[in-house]
Amino acid sequence: MFEVANQPPPLEPYNLFTSDTVLREAVARERAGWAEGELASLGATLGSPETIALGFAANRNPPVLKSYDRYGHRLDEVEFHPSWHALMALALEAGLHSSPWAKPQAGAHVARAAGTYMLTQIESGVYCPIAMTYGSVPTLRQAPAVADEWLPRIFARTYDARFIPAREKHSALIGMGMTENQGGSDLRANVTRAEPAGDGSFCLHGHKWFMSAPMCDAFLVLAQSPKGLSCFLMPRWMPDGARNAVHINRLKDKLGNKSNASSEVEFHGAYAQLIGEEGRGIPTIIEMGNYTRLDCAIGSSGLMRAAVAQAVHHARHRSAFQKKLVDQPLMENVLADLALECEAATALTFRLARAYDEDGEAAQAIRRIVTPAAKFWICKRTPYLTFEAMEVLGGSGYIEECIMPRLYREAPVNSIWEGSGNIMCLDVLRAIARIANAGEVLKAEFDDGGDKRLRAFAARLLERLSASERNEERQARVLTRDLVLALQAALLVKHAPAVVADAFCASRLTGEGGSAFGLLPRGVDARTIVERAAPQK
Ligand SMILES: Cc1cc2nc3c(=O)[nH]c(=O)nc-3n(C[C@H](O)[C@H](O)[C@H](O)COP(=O)(O)OP(=O)(O)OC[C@H]3O[C@@H](n4cnc5c(N)ncnc54)[C@H](O)[C@@H]3O)c2cc1C
Repeated sequence: MFEVANQPPPLEPYNLFTSDTVLREAVARERAGWAEGELASLGATLGSPETIALGFAANRNPPVLKSYDRYGHRLDEVEFHPSWHALMALALEAGLHSSPWAKPQAGAHVARAAGTYMLTQIESGVYCPIAMTYGSVPTLRQAPAVADEWLPRIFARTYDARFIPAREKHSALIGMGMTENQGGSDLRANVTRAEPAGDGSFCLHGHKWFMSAPMCDAFLVLAQSPKGLSCFLMPRWMPDGARNAVHINRLKDKLGNKSNASSEVEFHGAYAQLIGEEGRGIPTIIEMGNYTRLDCAIGSSGLMRAAVAQAVHHARHRSAFQKKLVDQPLMENVLADLALECEAATALTFRLARAYDEDGEAAQAIRRIVTPAAKFWICKRTPYLTFEAMEVLGGSGYIEECIMPRLYREAPVNSIWEGSGNIMCLDVLRAIARIANAGEVLKAEFDDGGDKRLRAFAARLLERLSASERNEERQARVLTRDLVLALQAALLVKHAPAVVADAFCASRLTGEGGSAFGLLPRGVDARTIVERAAPQK
C-alpha cells in the first residue's frame, strides 16, 4: 500500500464569511455591518462538511421529470433529491429569496448579496429560484391585488416543497418564462398568446423554450395579448384548486447547474393574471431583470471566490520542487492575479448592491448603467478564472470529487442567461444615451485617489463616453470592459490595501493583463495579495 503524501487537507469546515477578508470589508463598507453576526452564522453553516456534502449530493442526483402517473394522468412534476430540498430550506431560512423586501432597511440588499455570494460557493443550482423570487417582487407590486395575495408567502422563510395550491402553503417561490424557441434576446418575437378569459384573467397558449425551476409556485411570463406583449403571473394551480394547464415537455440536459431543473413547457389555455399595463410587458418584467442581473454579478463573484479560496488553500499545502506551490514565484504571480480579479469583482458587485439600497438620481443611474456592465464583465471573466484556478490543483482539480469541475461548468451560465454578453453591452450603450447626467455620475465614481494611471484611464474613458463614437455597437464590448475596469480600479484605489490597487492598475489599466492569468508585471507585491485572499481560519 503506498503512502498518501503531500496532499492538502480538505478546505472544511470553514466559515465562508469570517474567513473572507474582502467580503467582510465590502459588507462593512457598503453599510451592512449590522448583518455581520447573521452572515457569520450563515457562513459557518454553509462551510460545514454536512452542507458541502449536500451540494455534491444535489449535483450527483439531478432532478427527474414525472410527466404522468401510472394511470396516464398528467403530473408535470419534477422530483428532486432530498439534498436539494435541504439546501432550499437553508436558503429560505436565511431570507435570501426576499429579506430586503420583507424587512427593508439600510444595507438590506447588500446583506442579502453577501448571503447569496456565500450560498453560490457551495451550491449554485438553488440560487436560480432564489434569485428569481427575489427579483419578482418589484414586478409583482405593479399589480397591487396580486401582490397582496402573493407577497406574504414570498416573504415567509419556511420552505414548503409540497406541490399543492400556493394558498395552502407556508411559502411560495416565483420563476419566469420569457425565452421562446425562436428567440430569447429579441423578446418582441414572442408568439405565446394571451386571450382574455372574460373574468379579468387571461388564458395562455404557446410555449417557453427555457423555464427554469418549474416547481416554483408561479411564473412571470410574457405573452401577446390583444394590446401587445404583456406580463402575466401564471400559477401552477388554478383558483379552483385544479392543476393549471402548464405542460412540462422535457428537462434540459445542461452543461452545469445540474441540481436545478430547467424545462421546456407548453401552455394549453393556462390561467394567468395581468401584471402592470397591458401591452407594456417588457418594461414590466425588466424590473425583475435588473435584480436577476445583479444576482448574476453576485453569483459569478461568489464562484470566483470559491475557486480562489480552493486554489490558494491547495497551493499553501502542496509542495513541488522542494517548495510549497504558493512559494514558487510563478505560481505566486498566477494566484495573485486570480485574487485581484476576484477582489475587483467583489468590490464592484457590493458597490452595485448598495445602489439597490439607495434612492435618488445617482443611485438610479448606477443601477441602470452598471448592472448590465458588471454582469457582462464579471460573468465573462469567471469561466477563465475557474479554469485557471482548477489548474492550480493540477490533475486533482479535474476530478469530480473536487468542487472545481462543478464551479467550472457552472461559470458560463450567468453570462448567457438574463441577457447574454452582447445584449448587456448594447444595454449599457442605451442606458448611457438615455441618462442625461451619466458622465457626471460615473466621473464621481472614478475618484482616482491620486493614482495617475487611473486618472489617465478614466479621463480617456469619459472623453469616449461623451463622443458620438460611444454609440458604435461594434465597440460596445470594449467600452463596457473599460467602464468596468475604471470602476473596479477606483474602488480598489479608495478601499483596498495599496498593494492590491497598485497591482490592479498596473496590470488592468496599463499592462497586458486580461488575456490569461499570471501576467502581473514586475514590482507587484504578489505575496501580500495572495495572503489577503487566503481563506483565514
Ligand atoms: C441554464 C439556463 C437557464 C435558463 N432559464 C431561463 C428561465 O428560467 N427563463 C427564461 O425566460 N429564460 C431562461 N434561459 C434562457 C436565456 O435567458 C436565453 O438563452 C438568453 O436570453 C439568450 O437567448 P437565446 O438563447 O434565444 O439566444 P439568441 O437570442 O438567439 O442569442 C444568441 C446570441 O446572439 C447574441 N445577440 C442577439 N442579438 C444580438 C444583437 N442585436 N447584436 C449582437 N449580438 C446579439 C446574444 O448575445 C447571444 O450571444 C435560460 C438559459 C439557460 C442556459
